[in-house]
Amino acid sequence: MRVVVTGGAGFLGSHLCDAFVARGDEVVCLDNFLTGNPENVAHLVGAPGFRLVRTDVTDYVHVPGPVDIVLHFASPASPIDYLRVPIETLKVGSVGTLHALGLAKEKGARFVLASTSEVYGDPEIHPQPETYWGHVNPVGPRGVYDEAKRFAEALTLAYRHTHGVDTGIVRIFNTFGPRMRPNDGRAIPNFIRQALAGEPVTVAGDGSQTRSICYVDDLVAGILALAGSPHAGPINIGNPHEISMLELAKWIIDLTGSTSEVVHIARPVDDPTVRQPDTTLASTLLGWAPRVPVEEGLRRTIDWFREQDARAAFGAPPLAPETTQQILNG
Ligand code: UDP
Repeated sequence: MRVVVTGGAGFLGSHLCDAFVARGDEVVCLDNFLTGNPENVAHLVGAPGFRLVRTDVTDYVHVPGPVDIVLHFASPASPIDYLRVPIETLKVGSVGTLHALGLAKEKGARFVLASTSEVYGDPEIHPQPETYWGHVNPVGPRGVYDEAKRFAEALTLAYRHTHGVDTGIVRIFNTFGPRMRPNDGRAIPNFIRQALAGEPVTVAGDGSQTRSICYVDDLVAGILALAGSPHAGPINIGNPHEISMLELAKWIIDLTGSTSEVVHIARPVDDPTVRQPDTTLASTLLGWAPRVPVEEGLRRTIDWFREQDARAAFGAPPLAPETTQQILNG
Protein backbone atom coordinates (compact mmCIF):
# COMPACT_ATOMS: atom_id res chain seq x y z
CA MET A 1 0.00 0.00 0.00
CA ARG A 2 1.04 3.60 -0.57
CA VAL A 3 -0.54 5.91 1.98
CA VAL A 4 -0.71 9.72 2.15
CA VAL A 5 -1.24 11.25 5.60
CA THR A 6 -2.00 14.98 5.68
CA GLY A 7 -1.04 16.43 9.04
CA GLY A 8 1.31 13.47 9.30
CA ALA A 9 3.71 15.28 11.65
CA GLY A 10 0.95 16.08 14.14
CA PHE A 11 -0.03 14.12 17.25
CA LEU A 12 -2.45 11.66 15.61
CA GLY A 13 -0.88 11.84 12.15
CA SER A 14 2.55 10.80 13.40
CA HIS A 15 1.14 7.78 15.26
CA LEU A 16 -0.67 6.80 12.04
CA CYS A 17 2.58 7.12 10.08
CA ASP A 18 4.24 4.83 12.64
CA ALA A 19 1.49 2.24 12.26
CA PHE A 20 1.59 2.20 8.44
CA VAL A 21 5.40 2.05 8.32
CA ALA A 22 5.32 -0.78 10.90
CA ARG A 23 3.06 -2.85 8.69
CA GLY A 24 5.33 -2.30 5.69
CA ASP A 25 3.41 0.37 3.79
CA GLU A 26 4.96 3.32 1.99
CA VAL A 27 3.99 6.60 3.63
CA VAL A 28 3.98 10.12 2.24
CA CYS A 29 3.66 12.47 5.22
CA LEU A 30 2.44 15.97 4.37
CA ASP A 31 2.59 18.78 6.93
CA ASN A 32 3.07 22.54 7.04
CA PHE A 33 4.25 22.35 10.70
CA LEU A 34 1.72 24.98 11.83
CA THR A 35 0.83 22.81 14.82
CA GLY A 36 2.66 19.63 13.75
CA ASN A 37 6.34 19.12 14.45
CA PRO A 38 8.96 17.32 12.33
CA GLU A 39 10.36 15.92 15.61
CA ASN A 40 7.29 13.67 15.77
CA VAL A 41 8.39 11.73 12.69
CA ALA A 42 12.16 12.34 12.80
CA HIS A 43 12.65 8.67 13.78
CA LEU A 44 10.89 7.59 10.55
CA VAL A 45 13.03 9.68 8.23
CA GLY A 46 15.27 7.19 6.46
CA ALA A 47 12.84 4.29 6.98
CA PRO A 48 12.15 2.49 3.70
CA GLY A 49 9.33 4.15 1.79
CA PHE A 50 8.83 7.07 4.21
CA ARG A 51 8.83 10.62 2.82
CA LEU A 52 8.24 13.81 4.77
CA VAL A 53 7.07 16.72 2.62
CA ARG A 54 6.58 20.25 3.94
CA THR A 55 3.48 21.49 2.17
CA ASP A 56 0.29 23.37 2.97
CA VAL A 57 -2.66 21.31 1.77
CA THR A 58 -4.78 24.46 1.57
CA ASP A 59 -2.51 25.64 -1.28
CA TYR A 60 -2.26 22.51 -3.37
CA VAL A 61 -1.68 18.79 -2.97
CA HIS A 62 0.51 17.01 -5.46
CA VAL A 63 1.80 13.49 -4.89
CA PRO A 64 3.50 11.76 -7.82
CA GLY A 65 2.89 8.04 -8.35
CA PRO A 66 0.14 5.69 -7.21
CA VAL A 67 -1.73 6.18 -3.92
CA ASP A 68 -4.01 3.62 -2.24
CA ILE A 69 -5.22 5.53 0.82
CA VAL A 70 -5.44 9.26 1.65
CA LEU A 71 -5.96 10.09 5.33
CA HIS A 72 -6.85 13.75 5.86
CA PHE A 73 -5.65 14.57 9.37
CA ALA A 74 -4.31 18.09 8.85
CA SER A 75 -5.96 20.64 11.16
CA PRO A 76 -5.31 22.55 14.35
CA ALA A 77 -7.30 20.53 16.89
CA SER A 78 -6.89 22.13 20.30
CA PRO A 79 -9.28 24.95 21.27
CA ILE A 80 -6.45 27.41 21.96
CA ASP A 81 -4.87 26.57 18.59
CA TYR A 82 -7.97 27.07 16.55
CA LEU A 83 -8.72 30.29 18.40
CA ARG A 84 -5.20 31.48 17.53
CA VAL A 85 -5.44 30.47 13.85
CA PRO A 86 -9.17 30.48 13.08
CA ILE A 87 -8.88 31.21 9.37
CA GLU A 88 -6.25 28.52 8.79
CA THR A 89 -8.54 26.11 10.67
CA LEU A 90 -11.49 26.95 8.41
CA LYS A 91 -9.28 26.74 5.31
CA VAL A 92 -7.77 23.35 6.06
CA GLY A 93 -11.18 21.88 6.86
CA SER A 94 -12.72 23.27 3.66
CA VAL A 95 -10.16 23.94 0.92
CA GLY A 96 -7.70 21.43 2.40
CA THR A 97 -10.37 18.72 2.41
CA LEU A 98 -11.27 19.63 -1.18
CA HIS A 99 -7.63 19.13 -2.24
CA ALA A 100 -7.22 15.89 -0.29
CA LEU A 101 -10.44 14.54 -1.84
CA GLY A 102 -9.21 15.65 -5.25
CA LEU A 103 -6.04 13.64 -4.71
CA ALA A 104 -8.04 10.54 -3.73
CA LYS A 105 -10.27 10.96 -6.78
CA GLU A 106 -7.31 11.34 -9.16
CA LYS A 107 -5.54 8.29 -7.72
CA GLY A 108 -8.61 6.09 -7.22
CA ALA A 109 -7.64 5.89 -3.53
CA ARG A 110 -9.70 5.26 -0.41
CA PHE A 111 -10.17 8.53 1.51
CA VAL A 112 -10.50 8.79 5.30
CA LEU A 113 -11.57 12.08 6.88
CA ALA A 114 -10.58 12.86 10.46
CA SER A 115 -13.79 14.35 11.79
CA THR A 116 -14.54 14.99 15.42
CA SER A 117 -16.94 14.65 18.31
CA GLU A 118 -17.09 18.46 18.07
CA VAL A 119 -19.65 18.02 15.29
CA TYR A 120 -22.04 17.16 18.16
CA GLY A 121 -21.28 20.52 19.84
CA ASP A 122 -22.71 20.77 23.37
CA PRO A 123 -24.82 17.62 23.02
CA GLU A 124 -28.40 17.25 24.16
CA ILE A 125 -28.23 13.47 23.72
CA HIS A 126 -25.91 11.36 25.83
CA PRO A 127 -23.98 9.27 24.81
CA GLN A 128 -23.77 10.48 21.23
CA PRO A 129 -24.66 8.08 18.40
CA GLU A 130 -23.66 8.91 14.82
CA THR A 131 -27.31 9.62 14.00
CA TYR A 132 -27.35 12.66 16.32
CA TRP A 133 -27.13 15.91 14.32
CA GLY A 134 -25.48 17.93 17.03
CA HIS A 135 -25.95 21.22 18.85
CA VAL A 136 -23.30 23.60 17.50
CA ASN A 137 -22.99 27.38 17.75
CA PRO A 138 -21.64 28.44 14.34
CA VAL A 139 -20.74 31.97 15.52
CA GLY A 140 -19.15 31.00 18.85
CA PRO A 141 -15.37 30.69 19.28
CA ARG A 142 -15.40 26.93 18.57
CA GLY A 143 -17.47 27.42 15.42
CA VAL A 144 -14.36 27.72 13.25
CA TYR A 145 -13.39 24.13 14.03
CA ASP A 146 -16.84 22.59 14.41
CA GLU A 147 -18.22 24.04 11.21
CA ALA A 148 -15.05 23.32 9.22
CA LYS A 149 -15.37 19.67 10.18
CA ARG A 150 -19.11 19.61 9.48
CA PHE A 151 -18.44 21.14 6.06
CA ALA A 152 -15.65 18.57 5.51
CA GLU A 153 -18.08 15.74 6.24
CA ALA A 154 -20.62 17.15 3.75
CA LEU A 155 -17.92 17.58 1.10
CA THR A 156 -16.67 14.03 1.65
CA LEU A 157 -20.17 12.64 1.09
CA ALA A 158 -20.58 14.84 -2.00
CA TYR A 159 -17.39 13.36 -3.51
CA ARG A 160 -18.61 9.87 -2.66
CA HIS A 161 -21.99 10.39 -4.32
CA THR A 162 -20.92 12.60 -7.22
CA HIS A 163 -17.49 11.22 -8.11
CA GLY A 164 -17.70 7.71 -6.67
CA VAL A 165 -14.72 8.22 -4.35
CA ASP A 166 -14.41 5.44 -1.75
CA THR A 167 -14.71 7.51 1.43
CA GLY A 168 -14.83 6.94 5.18
CA ILE A 169 -15.45 9.42 7.99
CA VAL A 170 -14.22 8.89 11.55
CA ARG A 171 -15.54 11.05 14.39
CA ILE A 172 -12.68 11.18 16.86
CA PHE A 173 -13.38 11.67 20.57
CA ASN A 174 -10.81 13.07 23.04
CA THR A 175 -7.58 11.18 22.50
CA PHE A 176 -4.36 11.42 24.46
CA GLY A 177 -0.86 10.01 24.49
CA PRO A 178 2.79 10.74 23.81
CA ARG A 179 3.55 13.62 21.40
CA MET A 180 0.77 15.88 22.61
CA ARG A 181 2.32 19.31 22.94
CA PRO A 182 2.72 20.22 26.61
CA ASN A 183 1.43 23.70 25.82
CA ASP A 184 -1.37 22.79 23.46
CA GLY A 185 -3.84 23.89 26.12
CA ARG A 186 -5.89 20.72 26.33
CA ALA A 187 -6.83 19.26 29.66
CA ILE A 188 -4.58 16.18 29.72
CA PRO A 189 -1.28 17.74 28.59
CA ASN A 190 -2.00 20.81 30.74
CA PHE A 191 -2.74 18.77 33.86
CA ILE A 192 0.32 16.54 33.36
CA ARG A 193 2.67 19.46 32.69
CA GLN A 194 1.33 21.39 35.68
CA ALA A 195 1.44 18.38 38.00
CA LEU A 196 5.01 17.49 37.01
CA ALA A 197 6.11 21.10 37.53
CA GLY A 198 4.37 21.29 40.92
CA GLU A 199 2.22 24.14 39.61
CA PRO A 200 -1.48 24.58 40.36
CA VAL A 201 -3.62 22.33 38.16
CA THR A 202 -6.18 24.49 36.35
CA VAL A 203 -9.68 23.03 36.32
CA ALA A 204 -12.20 25.02 34.29
CA GLY A 205 -15.38 25.94 36.17
CA ASP A 206 -16.36 23.49 38.90
CA GLY A 207 -14.86 20.64 36.86
CA SER A 208 -18.12 18.69 36.65
CA GLN A 209 -18.04 18.74 32.83
CA THR A 210 -17.07 15.36 31.39
CA ARG A 211 -15.02 13.96 28.54
CA SER A 212 -14.43 10.35 27.49
CA ILE A 213 -10.76 9.75 26.93
CA CYS A 214 -9.07 7.29 24.59
CA TYR A 215 -5.42 6.24 24.49
CA VAL A 216 -3.85 6.97 21.11
CA ASP A 217 -2.97 3.34 20.25
CA ASP A 218 -6.65 2.37 20.41
CA LEU A 219 -7.62 5.31 18.21
CA VAL A 220 -5.01 4.34 15.62
CA ALA A 221 -6.27 0.74 15.61
CA GLY A 222 -9.80 2.02 14.91
CA ILE A 223 -8.63 4.22 12.06
CA LEU A 224 -6.63 1.41 10.47
CA ALA A 225 -9.73 -0.78 10.67
CA LEU A 226 -11.87 1.92 9.02
CA ALA A 227 -9.22 2.59 6.34
CA GLY A 228 -9.14 -1.12 5.49
CA SER A 229 -12.94 -1.40 5.31
CA PRO A 230 -15.45 -0.22 2.71
CA HIS A 231 -17.56 1.65 5.30
CA ALA A 232 -18.57 5.26 4.67
CA GLY A 233 -19.38 6.16 8.25
CA PRO A 234 -19.42 8.46 10.00
CA ILE A 235 -18.19 6.11 12.71
CA ASN A 236 -17.38 7.25 16.26
CA ILE A 237 -14.00 6.11 17.56
CA GLY A 238 -13.33 6.84 21.21
CA ASN A 239 -13.15 5.17 24.59
CA PRO A 240 -16.52 5.44 26.38
CA HIS A 241 -14.62 5.80 29.71
CA GLU A 242 -16.24 9.06 30.88
CA ILE A 243 -14.72 11.21 33.58
CA SER A 244 -15.26 14.68 35.02
CA MET A 245 -12.43 17.18 34.63
CA LEU A 246 -12.11 17.53 38.42
CA GLU A 247 -11.72 13.75 38.80
CA LEU A 248 -9.24 13.72 35.93
CA ALA A 249 -7.14 16.47 37.52
CA LYS A 250 -7.04 14.63 40.86
CA TRP A 251 -6.19 11.34 39.14
CA ILE A 252 -3.25 12.91 37.30
CA ILE A 253 -2.00 14.59 40.47
CA ASP A 254 -2.14 11.18 42.14
CA LEU A 255 -0.45 9.28 39.28
CA THR A 256 2.39 11.81 39.05
CA GLY A 257 2.87 11.82 42.84
CA SER A 258 2.61 15.61 42.67
CA THR A 259 1.99 18.06 45.50
CA SER A 260 0.07 20.36 43.14
CA GLU A 261 -3.28 21.72 44.18
CA VAL A 262 -6.35 22.21 42.03
CA VAL A 263 -7.30 25.79 41.18
CA HIS A 264 -10.45 26.76 39.34
CA ILE A 265 -10.31 28.95 36.26
CA ALA A 266 -13.04 30.37 34.03
CA ARG A 267 -14.91 27.93 31.85
CA PRO A 268 -14.34 28.57 28.11
CA VAL A 269 -17.29 29.86 26.06
CA ASP A 270 -19.48 27.05 24.65
CA ASP A 271 -17.42 24.38 26.47
CA PRO A 272 -19.44 21.15 26.06
CA THR A 273 -20.93 19.87 29.33
CA VAL A 274 -20.73 16.17 28.54
CA ARG A 275 -19.26 13.97 25.84
CA GLN A 276 -19.28 10.21 25.40
CA PRO A 277 -19.19 8.10 22.24
CA ASP A 278 -21.77 5.49 21.46
CA THR A 279 -19.38 2.94 19.89
CA THR A 280 -21.95 0.36 18.80
CA LEU A 281 -21.22 1.03 15.13
CA ALA A 282 -17.44 0.70 15.51
CA SER A 283 -17.85 -2.57 17.34
CA THR A 284 -20.39 -4.10 14.95
CA LEU A 285 -18.92 -2.85 11.64
CA LEU A 286 -15.21 -2.86 12.47
CA GLY A 287 -15.01 -5.29 15.39
CA TRP A 288 -13.24 -2.48 17.23
CA ALA A 289 -13.11 -1.83 20.96
CA PRO A 290 -10.59 0.11 23.07
CA ARG A 291 -8.10 -2.17 24.82
CA VAL A 292 -5.77 0.09 26.79
CA PRO A 293 -7.17 0.94 30.24
CA VAL A 294 -7.23 4.69 30.75
CA GLU A 295 -4.94 4.49 33.79
CA GLU A 296 -2.34 2.57 31.77
CA GLY A 297 -2.59 5.16 28.99
CA LEU A 298 -2.18 8.01 31.48
CA ARG A 299 0.90 6.33 32.97
CA ARG A 300 2.50 5.94 29.54
CA THR A 301 1.73 9.55 28.70
CA ILE A 302 3.11 10.83 32.00
CA ASP A 303 6.30 8.78 31.43
CA TRP A 304 6.70 10.36 28.01
CA PHE A 305 6.23 13.88 29.43
CA ARG A 306 8.86 13.08 32.08
CA GLU A 307 11.30 11.98 29.35
CA GLN A 308 10.69 15.22 27.46
CA ASP A 309 11.43 17.20 30.61
CA ALA A 310 14.63 15.26 31.12
CA ARG A 311 15.70 15.92 27.52
CA ALA A 312 14.87 19.60 27.87
CA ALA A 313 16.93 19.79 31.06
CA PHE A 314 19.97 18.65 29.08
CA GLY A 315 19.11 21.01 26.23
CA ALA A 316 16.90 19.48 23.54
CA PRO A 317 19.09 18.38 20.63
CA PRO A 318 18.23 20.08 17.34
CA LEU A 319 16.92 17.93 14.49
CA ALA A 320 19.81 16.04 12.92
CA PRO A 321 21.00 17.67 9.67
CA GLU A 322 20.23 14.38 7.84
CA THR A 323 16.61 14.74 8.95
CA THR A 324 16.33 18.40 7.98
CA GLN A 325 17.76 17.65 4.54
CA GLN A 326 15.18 14.97 3.99
CA ILE A 327 12.21 17.25 4.60
CA LEU A 328 11.18 17.78 1.01
CA ASN A 329 9.54 21.04 0.12
CA GLY A 330 6.28 20.33 -1.64
N1 UDP B 1 -9.93 22.13 30.77
C1 UDP B 1 -9.60 22.36 32.08
N2 UDP B 1 -8.36 22.84 32.36
C2 UDP B 1 -7.43 23.07 31.41
C3 UDP B 1 -7.75 22.80 30.07
C4 UDP B 1 -9.01 22.33 29.77
O1 UDP B 1 -10.42 22.14 32.98
O2 UDP B 1 -6.31 23.51 31.77
C5 UDP B 1 -11.28 21.61 30.48
C6 UDP B 1 -12.01 22.31 29.34
O3 UDP B 1 -12.69 23.45 29.81
C7 UDP B 1 -12.97 21.21 28.92
C8 UDP B 1 -12.16 19.93 29.17
O4 UDP B 1 -11.13 20.29 30.05
O5 UDP B 1 -14.11 21.20 29.75
C9 UDP B 1 -11.56 19.34 27.92
O6 UDP B 1 -10.90 20.35 27.24
P1 UDP B 1 -9.87 20.06 26.08
O7 UDP B 1 -9.33 21.38 25.62
O8 UDP B 1 -8.91 19.03 26.51
O9 UDP B 1 -10.71 19.37 24.93
P2 UDP B 1 -12.15 19.65 24.28
O10 UDP B 1 -12.83 20.80 24.97
O11 UDP B 1 -11.85 19.94 22.84
O12 UDP B 1 -12.85 18.38 24.50
